[in-house]
Amino acid sequence: MKEIIVQKFGGTSVADIEKIKNVAKAIIREKNFGHDVVVVVSAMGHTTDYLVKMAHEITEKPSSREMDMLLSTGEGVSIALLAMALQAQGCPAVSMNAIQVGIMTEKVHSKARIIDIKTDKIKRHLERGEVVVVAGFQGVTEDLEITTLGRGGSDTSAVALAGALSAKRCDIYTDVEGVYTTDPRIVPNASRLGEISYGEMLELARVGANVLHPRAVETAKQYNVPIRVRSTFKLDNPGTLILGVDNMELHRPVTGVASDLSQLRIVVCDVKDNPGTAAILFNGLAIANISVDMIIQSYARKDLNTNDIAFTIDKSDKEQTLRILEKVKAQLDFSNVHVDDKIAKISIVGAGMIDRPGIAAMMFKTLADLDINIKMISTSEIKISCIVAEDKAKEAVEALHKVFNLDCDEIAEVKGDLPDV
Ligand code: ASP
Ligand code: MG
Repeated sequence: MKEIIVQKFGGTSVADIEKIKNVAKAIIREKNFGHDVVVVVSAMGHTTDYLVKMAHEITEKPSSREMDMLLSTGEGVSIALLAMALQAQGCPAVSMNAIQVGIMTEKVHSKARIIDIKTDKIKRHLERGEVVVVAGFQGVTEDLEITTLGRGGSDTSAVALAGALSAKRCDIYTDVEGVYTTDPRIVPNASRLGEISYGEMLELARVGANVLHPRAVETAKQYNVPIRVRSTFKLDNPGTLILGVDNMELHRPVTGVASDLSQLRIVVCDVKDNPGTAAILFNGLAIANISVDMIIQSYARKDLNTNDIAFTIDKSDKEQTLRILEKVKAQLDFSNVHVDDKIAKISIVGAGMIDRPGIAAMMFKTLADLDINIKMISTSEIKISCIVAEDKAKEAVEALHKVFNLDCDEIAEVKGDLPDV
């Protein structure tokens, strides 16, 4: 049997008929490299947004079952048109929705997780030399209810399908050329990365690099499926390969720099230094489904027996958080609450920083040299984040990008056994 490549095309890649014909060419090109090809597509252009809008013109709260019935139709249109475009260009092809394939999910409307994907029917079509075009984003429950995987979910469909089919790779075709060392709109010197690990991609996706659905990256990591992010409009461009660290050459400690302006910081001042204080505070936020990112508790001075607890949340959760703090004030006996909503979270990410001391110190020194004050710091194995003043974000990102040698004209080449680009 031939090796299988899963190709996924997003909404912008199939936005109109000309583009669909173009996508058919990219599929035939891949097939001519000697692969069996399974394609996953999203709905055309802004179809899904348009469907959501129509539903909301009927009622503010449409039932989630009917929303899934409605939204899943978008992908139904693009698979059939793409299969026709392939056939018209002489390539045998067949389209299939989630029911026909057997993309089994839990019974949760609007954000279902995939439990299992049946592969026998797809494989039968591949054996006949056909390209199989599968609807992304949708799934089906055991009792044949239609579900969807959440907005942007067709990346996850594609990666899960690649895992189930033991595909050689999952290629995500999109309107950007790959994953960059930082946002090219902030730093024009940003370069495309040849490769990046799942862990780094997840960290970058969380801090706002908008290329891939984070769940797709998690799924790829779980099944060890290499993903390639590449441009639909520049097929000769190798894009960025996302894979396990074991297969990577770690040439540099830092792979990317990101800034996130979506958070604010809250400081709860002079909280009693007793067991249970943090539990009461964060339990209140958890019940309200407010996710907290960084948390810092200050050192408690013996004479005062109090400390300060600072944390960051999404700006949109501000009012609700303040209401919750008001409720627990009597219990926690803090003096006041300080809100700072002009902050930026600046992060450096890199699997190469593991066991390399001095990376954090270098980050802090770079900020210090620019006279940028650090308000909070947090670290993971492959990420260091600092909270700074919002108006310093651009300067900080530019300087860190330079210090960690990411400003380069040469784009890192894709390594590994990939003769077919
Ligand atoms: N069509 C769906 C959406 O717009 C799924 C996707 O594009 O990934 O969210
Ligand atoms: Mg999408």
